[in-house]
Amino acid sequence: MALFLLGCSVNTVPIPTTLPSPTKQSIYYSNTTVTLTFDDGDADNYIVRDVLKENDLRATFYVVSGFTGTEGFMTEEQLRGLYEDGNEIGGHTLSHTKLSEVRGADLRKEICQDRLNLMAYGFEVTSFAYPFGFHDEESRQVVKDCGYNNARTVADGPEGIPPGNPFTLKAMPYIVQDTKFQKMFRYVMEVEQNGGGWAIFVFHHVCDGCDQYAVDYDTFSNFANWLGHQQQVNGLKVKTIDEVIGGEIQPGVGP
Ligand SMILES: [Zn+2]
Repeated sequence: MALFLLGCSVNTVPIPTTLPSPTKQSIYYSNTTVTLTFDDGDADNYIVRDVLKENDLRATFYVVSGFTGTEGFMTEEQLRGLYEDGNEIGGHTLSHTKLSEVRGADLRKEICQDRLNLMAYGFEVTSFAYPFGFHDEESRQVVKDCGYNNARTVADGPEGIPPGNPFTLKAMPYIVQDTKFQKMFRYVMEVEQNGGGWAIFVFHHVCDGCDQYAVDYDTFSNFANWLGHQQQVNGLKVKTIDEVIGGEIQPGVGP
């Protein structure tokens, strides 16, 4: 009988048992959307493919197409695998150039040719991220001219939905080596508690201490498990940049 009663009270959704204690605090996320973004197409990013899939999460990977397949960067095949899982592939220039340092035809080539390269892999490419977060009037215009629907910066988040300006999407503070799961979780909770909005997270390397802008795999996977659970039971929405912004895919534009 006791077992029967226990059975009745058990939530049908399994609650991950490995999560740290903050997750036991539960709030309902009626107005918060989270987006996970990864910059540069680093080879170590591929390690998150399974944990995203297992948690029904899709992320946006901003790829420097000039580096694809070279040492330290994901291959075309790996990018295709991520894309086939429903992740988004966005542009991040041909050679990770700070856009203040190129003008005119060079600027167009960095942005338009990069998008063409990614489209040639078979991806629908609508989202761009400014290398180092740098943008100005000319670079924002070139991003639009190359057929992008939005562009992400690296600061000043959370963003609103709809965003004030889709070509200067605001991001949460950088996730760096000492950003712990509790802090990432708190960023999301605070967005909801402050009236809701769009928390865009920016990741770079996924590894244990290989870089100052790195998150270790366990921290990321705890966060992904937590996000997946909140999405399943507490109303949190986790979407790619394109899923939030929408809009038609625009044809490729030559440089
Ligand atoms: Zn970058």
